[in-house]
Amino acid sequence: MENHFQTKQVLEEVCDIHSCNLWMTLVSIKGRLEKVEQCPECTKIAIGVFGKKLEAESEINSKLADTYAVFNRDSLVSDKLTVKSLETYEIKAEIY
Ligand SMILES: [Zn+2]
Repeated sequence: MENHFQTKQVLEEVCDIHSCNLWMTLVSIKGRLEKVEQCPECTKIAIGVFGKKLEAESEINSKLADTYAVFNRDSLVSDKLTVKSLETYEIKAEIY
């Protein structure tokens, strides 16, 4: 009974890359408890890669925003047309 609520267990298996013990974690997936074996170091790296990817994406987004700002400023499109496209957008938004 004592181990019933233990959700993390250090296994004897070791990670090929880090030579550290794997962890067995109980993860609730769709209401079912699944055993997940993972290396804590690999997990850390995976989280780090994910974070970097997010950073890269936000960098791209800010670059796109800059490009759009330049386009908008240098654009030959009249204010009237801009207003019209905004109206069209609003109508479309209502339909959806
Ligand atoms: Zn590892």
